[in-house]
Amino acid sequence: MEKKYKLIIIGAGIAGLSTALAWNKLYNPEDVIVLEKNPIPGGCVTTFGRDGFRFDTTQIIPDVSNLLEFFDVEIKLKKFDTYYVRLFLANPKKGTVKIFPIASSKEDFQDNMIENFPEDGWAIKNFFQYCQEMHDELNHLKTEPKLRHIPGILLKCPKIIANSNLTYHQFLRKFNFKNPEVFQLLDTFSSFSGLSGDRCAALLTACAMITTLKGAYRPEKGFIQFPVTLKKKLESQGTEVRTHCEVQQILTKNGKVTGVRLQNGDYLQANLVVSTVDTKVTFSELLDFQKKDKYFRKVREIKISPSGFSIHLGLDDKIDLNALGFNCGYNVLTTPGAFEKAFGHWDRQELMMSNDCFHMAAICPSVMTSGKPTLVLHVVPVPSEKWIALYDSDSKKYSQEKLTAIDFYINKLEQYMVPELSRHVVFTDISTPATYRRYIGSPTGSQYDMLPVPSNFGKNRLKSRTTIKGLFITKFSHGIWPSMQAGLQIVDMISGGKIMNGNSALR
Ligand SMILES: Cc1cc2nc3c(=O)[nH]c(=O)nc-3n(C[C@H](O)[C@H](O)[C@H](O)COP(=O)(O)OP(=O)(O)OC[C@H]3O[C@@H](n4cnc5c(N)ncnc54)[C@H](O)[C@@H]3O)c2cc1C
Repeated sequence: MEKKYKLIIIGAGIAGLSTALAWNKLYNPEDVIVLEKNPIPGGCVTTFGRDGFRFDTTQIIPDVSNLLEFFDVEIKLKKFDTYYVRLFLANPKKGTVKIFPIASSKEDFQDNMIENFPEDGWAIKNFFQYCQEMHDELNHLKTEPKLRHIPGILLKCPKIIANSNLTYHQFLRKFNFKNPEVFQLLDTFSSFSGLSGDRCAALLTACAMITTLKGAYRPEKGFIQFPVTLKKKLESQGTEVRTHCEVQQILTKNGKVTGVRLQNGDYLQANLVVSTVDTKVTFSELLDFQKKDKYFRKVREIKISPSGFSIHLGLDDKIDLNALGFNCGYNVLTTPGAFEKAFGHWDRQELMMSNDCFHMAAICPSVMTSGKPTLVLHVVPVPSEKWIALYDSDSKKYSQEKLTAIDFYINKLEQYMVPELSRHVVFTDISTPATYRRYIGSPTGSQYDMLPVPSNFGKNRLKSRTTIKGLFITKFSHGIWPSMQAGLQIVDMISGGKIMNGNSALR
């Protein structure tokens, strides 16, 4: 046995690093260690270079300034000023596309919508006011509500309670929009949830919309700045962040956590372990002990979110991405109903690749962070089984299929978003479910961990405090902001409320 720690954190992604920083607010920084299997921290959040091009894996964050202040770290962020998302609604039959920019503030977005859809003016106003009020109710939620908190929550969170079992589409229908384009425009926010509006919890999509409409940002020097800055801060405080260090097992005795076993055979002791690893993996592969209680039954039942493609394009300097309006965070190119149809295919482990029905997002990091021009395309959902099997068994076919996918998506972008794009492409690269499996450590290459369906979101979510004493998980919701909050929640639970008094978020 090596040194005994009080807390071991598995994974140096945003959740793991934030948990350690929250710990250091209260306790001795040398009593916690962060173990990361990769050579660098960050997990899903990183920046990488290829052929002189720099690409980010992530694209947008809401205002996290209070969290950075709390951790006493500085990361320079650029705000998307005029609009932060654009919806490209394509009509493949006519070969046309309608573009809807989504303004960078709730008031401007609401005013634009009322101007464009006057027949729905009242419903639009009502929608934004309702979502804002529902979002503000989050301030009254507790991470682990006790019986005495329930009357207060019932009184102060009526909208959250009324909508907690609804999908985003069921929620949208309550507002009776007359023009179907209003519904389609508001459905853009489902893309942030990584799940179609027909399936995703209303609470997640509506509140993520309000949060990002308060301000959407990107780190000036790329997303890698996030994990690197958090890691440096931890090390300056005396906490070890050990990379190239894979945890193979979480050890328990009499239903209590006792430490971890590393891949190199070493053991580390601790009575508290936080796992930021894929939830299914934590329970089915890392734990040396399986319980038969309700919690473990839920773990077995929950579905993990899909994987996707990230297509990285390096472009020549003859293209003017600024002039094409790419100085925003996120561009969704879709056809009506395509996102849900793509999930129908995913249910059958098929990839939807059709000229009449498609859904993707395009992001341009280089306009905000400078450097050689780049475009990144995200496609979700992509069935994991086929891509992982191809990667493992037939590298030639895997490479061919990757090229087919790259060509298809470049073609769609060229048709509806970036004229003559293919002429400017000088570099291509694609991350598939096999890449995400390798990099994040989820066997299905899942990008967002647990599927945020109503039956597993909010009050129904698999709890962060597990039924193994001393073992916690951080995946209460996906995203950089929720992952930072998850770290605070865990230390708040451990300390009996000393970080945020049992509240579900630091505000
Ligand atoms: C393509 C993509 C785009 C996204 N875009 C955005 C965005 O624009 N904005 C946003 O807010 N969110 C975005 N997200 C979501 C966000 O990045 C994640 O929700 C968040 O970063 C998750 O952080 P985490 O620490 O929980 O998990 P992870 O980032 O997955 O970190 C877990 C860490 O654990 C390590 N690990 C795994 N197994 C082991 C083991 N056995 N031993 C040791 N270490 C291990 C992994 O290597 C990894 O570093 C995106 C995610 C993806 C995949």
